[in-house]
Amino acid sequence: MLLRRMFKHVKGQNWLAVAIDFGIVVFGVFAGIQLGNWNTARQDRAEEAAFLSELHGELSTGASVYRDKLAARLAVQEAMGSALELLSGETPPRTLTDEECMAIGGSFIFSLGNAALPSLDRLQANNRVGIIRDEELAEAIARLSQVLKTMRERTDLLPKPVVLSDRYPEAVQVIAYIRPAPEQVDGTEVTVHYACDLEAMRAAPGFFSATSINFDLYDGFLRDVVQPYSAAFEKLHEVLDQELGTEHERPAGRTP
Ligand SMILES: [Zn+2]
Repeated sequence: MLLRRMFKHVKGQNWLAVAIDFGIVVFGVFAGIQLGNWNTARQDRAEEAAFLSELHGELSTGASVYRDKLAARLAVQEAMGSALELLSGETPPRTLTDEECMAIGGSFIFSLGNAALPSLDRLQANNRVGIIRDEELAEAIARLSQVLKTMRERTDLLPKPVVLSDRYPEAVQVIAYIRPAPEQVDGTEVTVHYACDLEAMRAAPGFFSATSINFDLYDGFLRDVVQPYSAAFEKLHEVLDQELGTEHERPAGRTP
């Protein structure tokens, strides 16, 4: 319709009318593009808001679970240290505590147990990280992702600790028992416990060295893997709280 009219004006050499028609076409195209852009931006904002709220929920749930795990790991580190002091004869003779025996028996287990953040995984998988406008927040997200990546690489590169119960069965014995666990499919779960023989530990050549190596590796794991993850996790939560205006009581926990 507009095009036919324009041709008519060109034929009649009515240049002012041609210019007006042309202006209408240009404006129409421009308005169409603007409307499309505006619509995309509106969808991005909605997606961003939903993502931030979901991520905050996951970080909050993850934080309390993660802090408990962190506290447990630090307790293991402490128990390992005091057990080694006892083994080396630096402290007055006594028996090993349950915690010390568990720490020695499980001194080969390095698990970070990082919190699951499915909303972030989904955003990255869909290549939608660009919808986050706040630079500090985008940076905190990138930092956490980077830490998780290097963490996996470092964990793979770390020397393997000694499974003391395998190498020194006379000193450390594994005892597995079944306990009720209503949340499991069959209603039970297997828990591992250790029994320690302090005299056998002292008598076994190499036991002290092997335990010391595990202790050193565990220390490095806490410092190089757990601590950077913990810091990046807390930082992201803090920046997100600022963005959303959320306030929390923050427990003053120990960091490794
Ligand atoms: Zn929060």
